[in-house]
Amino acid sequence: MILMLTLLFVFTVGACVGSFLNVAIVRMPLEKSLLWPNSSCGNCLQAISWFDNIPLISYLWLRGRCRTCGESYSIGYFFVELATALGFVGLFWLEVIADVHHWPCPDPMAVSMSVFPWRSWIGFGWHALLFSFLMVASVCDLRTREIPLSLTLTGTLIGLIGSTLLPWPWPHESATAGPPILMAGDMASWQTPDNKLLHGVYCWPFWGPLPAWADGGGNWQTGLATGVCGALIGTFLVRAIGFLFGKGLGKEALGLGDADLMMMAGSFLGWQIIIVAFFLSVFPALLFGIVLLIVKRDNSLPFGPSLSLSVLATCLAWHAIGEHIRPAFFWLELMVATSLVIGGMMFVISFALRLIRGGGAGIQ
Ligand SMILES: [Zn+2]
Repeated sequence: MILMLTLLFVFTVGACVGSFLNVAIVRMPLEKSLLWPNSSCGNCLQAISWFDNIPLISYLWLRGRCRTCGESYSIGYFFVELATALGFVGLFWLEVIADVHHWPCPDPMAVSMSVFPWRSWIGFGWHALLFSFLMVASVCDLRTREIPLSLTLTGTLIGLIGSTLLPWPWPHESATAGPPILMAGDMASWQTPDNKLLHGVYCWPFWGPLPAWADGGGNWQTGLATGVCGALIGTFLVRAIGFLFGKGLGKEALGLGDADLMMMAGSFLGWQIIIVAFFLSVFPALLFGIVLLIVKRDNSLPFGPSLSLSVLATCLAWHAIGEHIRPAFFWLELMVATSLVIGGMMFVISFALRLIRGGGAGIQ
């Protein structure tokens, strides 16, 4: 019963957030204020009253039409609200109920009665916030083939603030407050008893073993460094690969909006997830590209939705993914060598593509 009410609450919050995201999706590309004025009909300019502005319900009740002039609204508004509501519920289910990150559970009794730890709520809220930013970025990318810079810059700033407030390994006890989890030079104490690296809201710290000034993690220095590294590597990675592909293909390959999107995601999640997510985004992008080509005969592929999907999926699956590649991420020489090899391969592949296709359209 409590569980049902909790899920209903999360769904409702998601629908309301989705309603606000719709406002952002329409107004941000036009650089209009999000808070003023209230929503109005794009056709008759009549202000929409609060009872016609209830997420999901009003759209169904009015059958997607304006009460005053009868002009029909895009089903897109309804989908954004529904997708945000379902996305929030899914995220809550995985992170708080199924606890995919293995966040600490101080009171198993309470959890068995569906009263979840407040720290898990905060972790979920943090990722739900990222979800919301990614939703706006993706829909803007679909609609206008552009991701507003004001959106990604705001997101990055908020991400950096959050990284400072939620430093790795939070919500686990920090090394300074509890038993030593991560001390410089001591690889063994990185790990939980079952030989896994503790996952915080920020799954991994920016580097390991942590330098002396980070003092074992759990402080604002560690958090800020995690956020800054995520943002820098996010934007640099996309720009570097876009540059390589651009040189190989002989035309622009990845948009700057994609780089800004990954900068924002990096400030929310740290750099390791971003790198993996970037490469995994090829799969949704291929699928999406084929669908778009068949349905719309359109070969200009917006990359934002694929990146967003991949970022969230990688974060949620990090317990399964991260452990397999952990050595590579904390071994500097191996990282440099791998990036050189991958970079070289990308250039060769893109150059081959150019020869095969005679410089056809790239990903945009
Ligand atoms: Zn109207």
